[in-house]
Amino acid sequence: NMTVQDIANVLKKDVDHVLKALEFADKTSDTNYTKKTIIYNPQIIRDVVKISGFRFKLVPNPDQEIEEEENKDAVPAPPAAPEALRPRPPVVCVMGHVDHGKTTLLDALRDTSVVDQEFGGITQHIGAFEVQLSSGEKVTFLDTPGHAAFTAMRSRGAHATDVVVLVVAADDGVMEQTVESIRMAREANVPILVAINKMDKPGVNIERILRALAQHGVVCEAVGGDVQAIPVSALKKQNLDTLVEALTLQAQLMDLKADPGGFVEGVVIEAQLDPRTGKQATVLVQRGTLRKGCVIVAGSGWAKVRMLNSAEGRPVLEAPPSTPVAVLGWRELPAAGDTVLEVASEKRASEVLKWRHNQRMKEKQELDRAAIEAKEAAHREQYKAMLSRKRAMGRFKLKPDGPRQKMIQHDDHPTLSVLVKGDVDGSVEAILDILETYDEHDRVRLDLVHYGVGPVTPNDIEIAEAFSAVVYAFNVECPSSLTVEAKKKNIAIKKYNIIYKLVDDVKEEITARIPKRQ
Ligand code: GDP
Repeated sequence: NMTVQDIANVLKKDVDHVLKALEFADKTSDTNYTKKTIIYNPQIIRDVVKISGFRFKLVPNPDQEIEEEENKDAVPAPPAAPEALRPRPPVVCVMGHVDHGKTTLLDALRDTSVVDQEFGGITQHIGAFEVQLSSGEKVTFLDTPGHAAFTAMRSRGAHATDVVVLVVAADDGVMEQTVESIRMAREANVPILVAINKMDKPGVNIERILRALAQHGVVCEAVGGDVQAIPVSALKKQNLDTLVEALTLQAQLMDLKADPGGFVEGVVIEAQLDPRTGKQATVLVQRGTLRKGCVIVAGSGWAKVRMLNSAEGRPVLEAPPSTPVAVLGWRELPAAGDTVLEVASEKRASEVLKWRHNQRMKEKQELDRAAIEAKEAAHREQYKAMLSRKRAMGRFKLKPDGPRQKMIQHDDHPTLSVLVKGDVDGSVEAILDILETYDEHDRVRLDLVHYGVGPVTPNDIEIAEAFSAVVYAFNVECPSSLTVEAKKKNIAIKKYNIIYKLVDDVKEEITARIPKRQ
């Protein structure tokens, strides 16, 4: 939880800048942010940081540091000027209890609605479709019923849904997932419109349902609240027009607007490899107007738009805000839920993709490092018992940073001499611990000639040369001049960053020195 002022301090930005970013990050709420407002939602904080063009690490010390780097990512444009805004259709998600008729309702709406009846194309499931009223008004429906669609659209800060249609079967009433859907819509601050379905069934009692809904905070108009409830039959396709009209009314109340100009912003609803068309992804446009030739980035994907298709499979020339279109022309496919941003050129797209790739690599490296540390810790534990036994036998008496003269016997016995350098005491110790457990048998001896912390030094090379040792460098560098010198002197320098791989290599070297039996 941070106040707006805290965020500004961390970002080293002035409060006004952060307030602007907030307005933009938190599109759905009507909170009046001031510098003292506490923000509880980590997603919003992340969005603000993203919009401000920074990546930062919160460290738990008072002099909070910013990990600043040149950010080549694509970021949304600042909020549009009010005069640029135009009304846009609502984007609707259908939710409710299982078997209450969500799928039937979506199918019925899709059938009745096909925007362009004459076209005669094949209706495709592209993840969303539009319904047009005779008045010309449109409503966009997300085509996957239930929680999955809603949650996917909510993730990554994409607030794609404007209204939830809560389907309640008249013969069954308010059930577990009805309540769950109400909770989810509440949390996302998305208004609800109730569709009381299966009205064709005999003996339904609407009042009972309205009372139950009111108990869960959804107070419909008939019982004195402001939530619209429309009785329908999805199966018999009854009263669907009224439902769509109610949705457009709801949209007017919400004053839904977007700027149809400027760079396109949107969200990926579906992405797949289509057997006929190849890489295809459905984009729900949220701002700007998507056209052929636009260059867009989304997650790890990007496209130069080659073709736009409607849900009826009809090519369209442009997709203004709230329009879902199947986009062709992807070089790399994005994932559902990815934010879509238009960029100025293909060159810019590849720069953004490269930056994002590097960011992912960095994150992966951090995970890898954690995994290595965990493995090292496990190794240490595993060998601790053996180690104390061997220590008691006094085989290796380790004196830091000194040649291990004691162990070196100049004879013809097959020997592997090693020199170990590591990045920290802990890693060197862990490696030595493991080497100590090597069970010396009569065939090959393991001599540790030198060890220490830090990069490989000229002194190390000298020692390695004197003892014909293999140099093992764990998580440390070897200056290139030394690498060249070592090569000339035929000294092997082996770099590892995983202890067990280093140990495996030692084992291989030992095996290679086992004399062949006659
Ligand atoms: P979902 O699980 O919410 O997607 O529900 P479905 O759309 O799969 O519907 C469940 C069952 O209810 C199916 O057998 C539908 O035919 C039936 N059903 C859906 N809508 C109606 C309706 O308006 N009237 C009647 N009588 N049955 C319906």
